[in-house]
Amino acid sequence: MQLVFASNNKNKIQEIQSMLPESIKILSLSDIGCHEDIPETANTIEGNAILKANYVTQKYGYDCFADDTGLEVEILNGEPGVFSARYAGEQRNDNDNMDKLLIELDNKTNRNAQFKTVICLNINNEQHLFTGIAKGEITKEKLGNQGFGYDPIFQPEGYQHTFAQISLEEKANISHRGKATRQLIAFFKK
Ligand code: IMP
Repeated sequence: MQLVFASNNKNKIQEIQSMLPESIKILSLSDIGCHEDIPETANTIEGNAILKANYVTQKYGYDCFADDTGLEVEILNGEPGVFSARYAGEQRNDNDNMDKLLIELDNKTNRNAQFKTVICLNINNEQHLFTGIAKGEITKEKLGNQGFGYDPIFQPEGYQHTFAQISLEEKANISHRGKATRQLIAFFKK
């Protein structure tokens, strides 16, 4: 069975392929000749995951899954959320995004935040959503140099270190993306 992952990120594709039963073959967007930018114009994380999966299913006719992730900060009413990648501007720069968030939270005591990943799966004319949440706090400074995005300023609940200070394996065990992906895998193993 062929299933499109609406992504061209080779690492993400390989990682998911290795966790799925061998009977499922993951295709990337370029594998199906989709080279255009898929619109991500929804104002929620769920909405963007659905937009991406529906685009592929409707335009190319494949069963497909797509993911979208955002960082939601409690005192900022869930921002940057769907704007996480471009919080400080269209240059989509991780350091600029973290600096902007640290300034927004300057002197704030409530630093609660969560990462949320939604995976939308379109299969056999049905749609399934899988959500993974990692709760934590925004630190006062950047700590660690592993990972990407907001990892250096996100300290997961129950930990004394940021996502950028723990190993990739440890992060995958507790992360938003790890949780959502494990639900997707469990769906196919049922
Ligand atoms: P995407 O939907 O996976 O492209 O994620 C959108 C944005 O959220 C990224 O550009 C990052 O800024 C941020 N982000 C997503 N996942 C993570 C993570 O695991 N750690 C830190 N930042 C992340």
